[in-house]
Amino acid sequence: MKIIKTSTICMFVLFLFFAFGCKTASENEKHAIELETLETVFEQYKEPAITHRRFKHADIQPLIQKHSSAFEIEELGESVEGKSISSLTWGEGQTKVLLWSQMHGNESTATMSLFDLFNFLEASGDAYDELRQVLKSNLQIKFIPMLNPDGADAFKRRNALDIDLNRDAISQISPEAVILKSIRDAFEPEFGFNLHDQQIYYNVDKTPKQATISVLAPGYNYERDVNEVRARAMKAIVGMNEVLQQVIPGGVGKYDDGFEPRAFGDNIQKWGTSTILIESGGYLGDPEKQFIRKLNFMIILNALHQIALKGYEAYSVDQYFEIPDNGFQLMDLILQEVQVPVEGEWYPIDIAIRRRESNADSTYYVNGSVEDLGDMQVYFGLEELEANGLRYEEGKTYDQAFESVNEITSEKALELLRSGYSAVKVQNDDPGDLHNLPLIVLKSRDEFTGGWQTGSNPSFFLKQDDVLKYALINGYLIDLQNPKDQLFKQRVY
Ligand SMILES: [Zn+2]
Repeated sequence: MKIIKTSTICMFVLFLFFAFGCKTASENEKHAIELETLETVFEQYKEPAITHRRFKHADIQPLIQKHSSAFEIEELGESVEGKSISSLTWGEGQTKVLLWSQMHGNESTATMSLFDLFNFLEASGDAYDELRQVLKSNLQIKFIPMLNPDGADAFKRRNALDIDLNRDAISQISPEAVILKSIRDAFEPEFGFNLHDQQIYYNVDKTPKQATISVLAPGYNYERDVNEVRARAMKAIVGMNEVLQQVIPGGVGKYDDGFEPRAFGDNIQKWGTSTILIESGGYLGDPEKQFIRKLNFMIILNALHQIALKGYEAYSVDQYFEIPDNGFQLMDLILQEVQVPVEGEWYPIDIAIRRRESNADSTYYVNGSVEDLGDMQVYFGLEELEANGLRYEEGKTYDQAFESVNEITSEKALELLRSGYSAVKVQNDDPGDLHNLPLIVLKSRDEFTGGWQTGSNPSFFLKQDDVLKYALINGYLIDLQNPKDQLFKQRVY
């Protein structure tokens, strides 16, 4: 009787512990910031001077100086072409965190978020002073926005020596690599954030979901071992993923952790700083990555809070490994089962198309290309067309030259397309001039050959019986019956 009674009490205590104690404690221990707060704070403090991803080194100098009273600003050195690389330091706490962005010049999304974050950290007198105080008293944060200014100004990946800085952690040939290594060694941060962009064609492996954000706690050896330093990064990433899953469910991929002995992330992890890689990918309808900028802001701020209060310790390494892997299976457009003519026979093929960006001043144009064809079931199209029964038809070039692209209205362009013309000639525009027409515009040549084979420019028509149903122009799909509003980023050939 007595024995039963004791065990009943035990069970009751255990029940209380699991039902209330455990759950409540672990939610509190995470120290996550409410989603609504993260979103509100971003909208309130985002830096209005940056509105697109092709800003330059000169554009951010006044924005750095703007924070000279709240942050300690230090010029760390200069790029190959002599442009300043600065750090901004904030906070009086024990835990040191280092964040660096744009080591690859054309990967600017996180740089925008850092300036948003500076505005937030510097502000006061709103509802978030307590939050700032937690960060300030627990952390000392050093930011290096735009580590590769020469690459940023040319909007290219590599630096002015044409070296990939992320393969220069050990050789230290580039001044930018020397700067990052020296600051890491002098500052000895507990956490490091390595901020990049990845191609928009990354998906969550074997799903059509674009990997809008990919994450990685880089490996520090070929064995992909997990020590305490790497485990800490993994746990912090789980906290970031929790935020992201609420905003972009299923849109987060985990980058491959194969060891690259020359890379910064891998080595900084090895040198004892828990290193977190954030890769900003693509998001449909967000070509300038302003939504992804917001996601970066939200997960970085949340992670800083969890680092300040050690909330990341509430997560496990297993939860990190549960994040699905990245794939590279996205295409801009997939045409399914187009009939193409070869040797007098028609064959049904899937055509996979990408429209890659090329730089032009402070904007870009695209180069459409047939990436692959045949059975394309392992790929996913950001746009797909079931073209079963539609036949390939070559486009024609319109005989009479127009004065300029400005003379061609969108109605005129559509009329030309419906008559089977995919290309027009102009007299006054120059090759390389930009335009937004759904036509191939020629100055330096009289003919343009599109095609369906790999490597061809996908400019042709899809025909049903004798009617042209769709036009493909430089990889853009145009429904000739029901054309939708779309942006054509084109140039004169
Ligand atoms: Zn990168």
